Amino acid sequence: MKVLVINCGSSSLKYQVLDMTSETLLAKGLVERIGLDGSVLKHEKTNVEDKFIQETAMADHKEAIANVMAALVDPVYGVVKSMDEIGAVGHRVVHAGEKYAASVIIDDAVIAALEECVELAPLHNPPNLLGIAACRELMPKTPMVAVFDTAFHQTMPPESYIYAIPYEYYTKYGIRRYGFHGTSHKYVAERAAYMLGVNIEDLKIITCHLGNGASVSAIKRGKCIDTSMGFTPLAGLAMGTRSGDIDPAIISFIADKDGINADEVLNILNKKSGMLGVSGISSDFRDIAEAIGDGDQRAALALQVFAHSVRFYIGAYIAEMNGVDAIVFTAGVGENDINTRDIICNELGNLGIKLDLVKNKVRGKEAVISRDDSKVAILLIPTNEELVIARDTYELTK
Ligand code: ADP
Repeated sequence: MKVLVINCGSSSLKYQVLDMTSETLLAKGLVERIGLDGSVLKHEKTNVEDKFIQETAMADHKEAIANVMAALVDPVYGVVKSMDEIGAVGHRVVHAGEKYAASVIIDDAVIAALEECVELAPLHNPPNLLGIAACRELMPKTPMVAVFDTAFHQTMPPESYIYAIPYEYYTKYGIRRYGFHGTSHKYVAERAAYMLGVNIEDLKIITCHLGNGASVSAIKRGKCIDTSMGFTPLAGLAMGTRSGDIDPAIISFIADKDGINADEVLNILNKKSGMLGVSGISSDFRDIAEAIGDGDQRAALALQVFAHSVRFYIGAYIAEMNGVDAIVFTAGVGENDINTRDIICNELGNLGIKLDLVKNKVRGKEAVISRDDSKVAILLIPTNEELVIARDTYELTK
């Protein structure tokens, strides 16, 4: 069975087609600037060198998906003769609140439930829902599955997800820690168990998803028991442009000083903070590394702040789980940034965490990067959220 995986952002759409009998990637692509000038579709068929690039106006997600469908059946770049060969569509959905702890087949009731979650993820859920609506319209007979970023974290115990604010804010407004990147944390934790040849039920794992957005999770016996992102993806680690955890009193303090409102301060915390804010240079760790090479002190400070925040959560989760067997690095920075992994793991030796500086010289592929005498295994595992979405979609619809 072939599965189409769709990940819709507000003006972009990423997709992959996988053959689930062999779990192979047949094609992938990206539509950018949906609803803006210069919409473009970039489509790549596995083992075909040329990319198919189509620059056509695409006013909305429905037009974008119609163009994706045309690329998928294209005689040269396509991977199916007709869309009937696509057995199911898996959609990435950011927020399911407390409604779903696992992936679900999409029907009208699921759509209604997800619409209720829009206020929890006003930037993310609306484009996810637009993508689902467009696919349902264009492929009315094809089953659709929703796979949620929040689902894997639903196993957290209340002491991890309840904020110490009046309890009514939880019951009335759903204010609690939800956590994100769940699909990635789940995937790399399962791969870690596989790589170590140990049943996940017997492991305590800390997964570090370090990309533009970044989060750390504590996974005990295969279940998430805590994660660094919170009510929104702004909490936890310092990130590319996000502040991560700060004293909440800072918000009204900046608002008063700069004469702006809380939303404007939040915009600064989301888009102008993190690595970008501290370094004043860039949110991209490659630019930060280059600036450090040129002797820039604030770039060096930004990286130390980031590494400190990751180390802080690793320490917290070791305490919460009363130990750790494996630490996993994944996503853009975690998979590629040798120096940042080194700085994070530096001086954790007394906790039994010893990075092998030679084995650590690896990028973008599965590897054990801890020393042989390290009590805790340190693993590099490239994430594959699309594969998890495709697997769940296949399992629910086959
Ligand atoms: P997201 O999916 O959250 O947008 P990614 O997981 O793709 O982010 O991570 C993107 C980030 O990874 C980039 O902003 C960059 O900082 C970092 N990155 C990618 N490649 C490298 C590299 N070779 N060295 C250091 N950092 C890298």
